[in-house]
Amino acid sequence: MNKITIIIFGEPGSGKTTQAKLLVDHFNLIHFDTGRFLESILFDPQRQNETRIQEEKKLFSSGKLNTPSFVVSEIKNKILKIYKSGFGIIFSGSPRTLYEAQKEIPLIEKYSGKENIFFIELKISEKEALKRNNQRLICKFCGYTLLKQYFSIENIKNCPVCGGIFYKRVLDNPEIIKIRFKEYIERTYPIFDFLKKRGFTVHKIDARPAPYKISQKIIKVIESKK
Ligand SMILES: [Zn+2]
Repeated sequence: MNKITIIIFGEPGSGKTTQAKLLVDHFNLIHFDTGRFLESILFDPQRQNETRIQEEKKLFSSGKLNTPSFVVSEIKNKILKIYKSGFGIIFSGSPRTLYEAQKEIPLIEKYSGKENIFFIELKISEKEALKRNNQRLICKFCGYTLLKQYFSIENIKNCPVCGGIFYKRVLDNPEIIKIRFKEYIERTYPIFDFLKKRGFTVHKIDARPAPYKISQKIIKVIESKK
């Protein structure tokens, strides 16, 4: 099978990162988590005196999307490096704006081949996302996400994978989730028209079932097309 690229869209809290992690081994891909990548740049102690970083950090922490030109310039080289190393990529959280899509999709087409790119959109309502958000813990060290409803131990403090400490992301407070939802509708939706015009299909998948069930659906979509 050729090198594939999977791009996962989805409302905040729809489980994009969880799916990307579950699919990485199945398809032998590198996971590119844009949110986490940007977070690591914006909170990099070495870069805190850069005005651009300070401005972008404010946007990020408020739930607004980062400036598309900033995002593209930070991630373009990283994407190229991964493709050149011979791996396919699974993206969670990128592209988020039409501008980013216009800059990144042609690049991805060039390295992956148009027929090897798969678009998935995970669908969840705002109400459901807020509910699920209360259930989510993220390990500070390995990034493992734990959904409390699938875990029988109460008040778990440490990550069952690496023993690291759980934290709640700045982005996971209810007010911020509302802003992120609005941003998704206003700024990410226009990408779908752009993709349609380029001849792509975005496969919509209900994000409410258990994560493994959603993965099985995504695998089915991809394997039926390859
Ligand atoms: Zn961990």
